[in-house]
Amino acid sequence: MSSKQASFLESVHKNFDKAASLTDLPQGLLSQIKACNSIYEMNFPVKIGKKYEVIKAFRVQHSQHRLPTKGGIRFSSYVNKDEVQALAALMTFKCAIVDVPFGGAKGGVAISPRKYNAEALEKITRRYTMELIRKNFIGPSSDVPAPDYGTGAREMAWILDTYTTFKGGSEIDAVGCVTGKPVNQNGIRGRTEATGRGVFYGLRELLLDEKMMQSVGLETGMAGKRIVIQGLGNVGSYAGLICQNEGDAKIIAVSEIEGTIYNPDGIDVDKLIKYRNRKKSFLGFPGTKTLKNREDWVGIECDVLIPAALESQIRKDNAKKVKAKIIAEAANGPVTADAEAILLKKGVIIIPDMYINAGGVTVSYFEWLKNLSHMRFGRMDKRFNQNAYGNLVDLIERNTGKRVTNRDRSIIVRGADEVDLVRSGLEETMITSLGQIMDIYKRRKTVKDLRTAAFISAIDKVASDYMTLGVFP
Ligand code: NAD
Repeated sequence: MSSKQASFLESVHKNFDKAASLTDLPQGLLSQIKACNSIYEMNFPVKIGKKYEVIKAFRVQHSQHRLPTKGGIRFSSYVNKDEVQALAALMTFKCAIVDVPFGGAKGGVAISPRKYNAEALEKITRRYTMELIRKNFIGPSSDVPAPDYGTGAREMAWILDTYTTFKGGSEIDAVGCVTGKPVNQNGIRGRTEATGRGVFYGLRELLLDEKMMQSVGLETGMAGKRIVIQGLGNVGSYAGLICQNEGDAKIIAVSEIEGTIYNPDGIDVDKLIKYRNRKKSFLGFPGTKTLKNREDWVGIECDVLIPAALESQIRKDNAKKVKAKIIAEAANGPVTADAEAILLKKGVIIIPDMYINAGGVTVSYFEWLKNLSHMRFGRMDKRFNQNAYGNLVDLIERNTGKRVTNRDRSIIVRGADEVDLVRSGLEETMITSLGQIMDIYKRRKTVKDLRTAAFISAIDKVASDYMTLGVFP
């Protein structure tokens, strides 16, 4: 074995090939599913202060077997063509796994957002959007971006405004050109937390599987499980908060740019986030100790590791240090293919990125549907359901002669709001998709890990699209 670390794209290809070899699909079809269809690499000038800077950026559409293509936009100085291709490929498989009817795409702008003020970031985002419009790489029926590392609702609002400036007058569905928008700008309630919430639903579901838990010597259920998180951004913070508040898990360590803090009795994530927002660093958070080496989060004794920062964080050189029983890949590609081989030998369960972090694209799909329907979810049926449940409670009271307390009535007699429906749709998606993956994992003797099972689930679905389209008879 060479000592060179596999690149992110090489890791994705290695994982794909491993799963593809276990299918009986024709090689030509598998090669098409693996290949990246369109790559747009651009350089554009932006005036920052008194100087012009040439910005490098990408948009990659991995597969157009279903349209639109879908995938976030990343702002990071590490962005490069290989990385964006790897992320776009993962989007194709992710969408297939959670039955979101999109092809995969990804965008990247090679800047460190920390180095720019809001005004400069707005200029860069708007100019990037114009480049995408110019080449038809954005649109509600062609390619729909969303937030990713280094971007959020603010950037999506700039993209929306730029796109509608050019297309709003002629395209009735123009606001569906991007998802992850602020709620008052045609966004959807529950999108910001969606990826982290999806991590919670998926992890909670796996932790209920008796056989899987027996295999790693854990009791079933999330309550009391010790979790370590790397990256307290959008995904990591919501995953931590929801696992703590709704799953009763104990977050015992958090790693961020400034360092890694640890408390075996648990860290209150709510308070930690507020502390970090105030002080711009969480070092010194009461009750925690700071590890000497930031990278030592990998080796902390715990039940679940949640890497939620960037790719290639658990590699051949540090995989042996892992003491966790389960790794939930909240980030894209945090475990390299070489590291995975070491971890699987140690018996670690890896819940793959393309399933466990699919909550974001799932709720983005709901947002896109909302944009196309031009109406908030729940608007038509909330009151109808509320009145129907009220009539039912009245009937029970009359027939039994007993009064339901006001508190119980308010719980029962309630129509669903948009956020209730979004969470319910997300929970259903995460549970159903894990069921499909587990079915492949448990039924097929040749499938030895969850990533391979997830890949097979995705490959089968994409292949079936190509075959019914008549492209590969
Ligand atoms: P984010 O920018 O909001 O947060 C990432 C955090 O990681 C930042 O706070 C950053 O400081 C921290 N970080 C970076 N390098 C680190 C290191 N070496 N050690 C510790 N912390 C480090 O990004 P995000 O949107 O939360 O995305 C995180 C990951 O999740 C990415 O891999 C992204 O592709 C993936 N993802 C995001 C979404 C989404 O909806 N935002 C959806 C699916 C997958």
